[in-house]
Amino acid sequence: MTERKTIGLVAHDGCKPDLVAWAKERREILARHDLVGTGTTGSAVREATGLDVECLKSGPLGGDAQLGARIAEGKLDILIFFTDSLSSMPHDVDVKALIRLAALYNTVFACNRVTADFVIDSPRLNAPIMRSEPVKR
Ligand code: PGA
Repeated sequence: MTERKTIGLVAHDGCKPDLVAWAKERREILARHDLVGTGTTGSAVREATGLDVECLKSGPLGGDAQLGARIAEGKLDILIFFTDSLSSMPHDVDVKALIRLAALYNTVFACNRVTADFVIDSPRLNAPIMRSEPVKR
């Protein structure tokens, strides 16, 4: 039986076509999970796949921060975040904060297509994820 996960979807502008193509290709697996995305990415995936994607604010307007808050609240299991390593972004601090929280909270995190495939093809996708709360040193 599938253990339902909440999967966050984000892609920077230069990577959106890649994430949308990946989501179309992996639609069948994604359909078994709860999806949440930053505004523009989430809408693009919803439109291209017909999947139900909860759309937060656009990343630069606070969507990355909203996803980070979900991680801190234990409400996000997996983050698929295709980052653009060739462009600078006005909301770079939000991007860094989201990646930092994903690392801090031991969140499964894929920053490119090949890693996203490894994650959703893993047999562990159907098992509970054991995560310990971070402890402040
Ligand atoms: P967007 O946000 O999906 O609203 O474009 C992504 C980002 O750039 O953080």
